[in-house]
Amino acid sequence: MYEKCIDYLSSRGVTLRDIAQCVLFLQKDYHPELSEAICEQAVKEILHKREVQHAIITGICLDIATEQKKLADEHLTKILQIDSPLYGIDEVLAYGICNLYGSIALTNYGYIDRCKPGIIRQLNQHQKQCNTFLDDIVGAIAAAAAGKLAHSL
Ligand code: MG
Repeated sequence: MYEKCIDYLSSRGVTLRDIAQCVLFLQKDYHPELSEAICEQAVKEILHKREVQHAIITGICLDIATEQKKLADEHLTKILQIDSPLYGIDEVLAYGICNLYGSIALTNYGYIDRCKPGIIRQLNQHQKQCNTFLDDIVGAIAAAAAGKLAHSL
């Protein structure tokens, strides 16, 4: 399941390195000595959690189903195609990842969602595919890894 999630992420244009760079963005002011390699290790640990894996697969499959117009409801398809700001369920799914790593993960998630560094900004532009769920999932994985690091450094 761990490998499958990494494959899913990479098939949608997201590498572990991309997520590690988001973690570094979140933590560099608190830990100037922090390296991308340590951030990537924290991301890998997050990706080993079953609940995280389920959130990744659920979100990416909903993005793909939206692209392929395979959702059972046309109105929902429209909402997901335009990434309607009033929808909010993409964020709720992502909170599930943050909830595993406490309040630092949650506040970092809110912050990264506002700043949209690196890959998150790219995903948010929806140029090649639907990323309605994926951008929040990537932000939440980075925020959870930041929370984990904050407690362990
Ligand atoms: Mg979204």
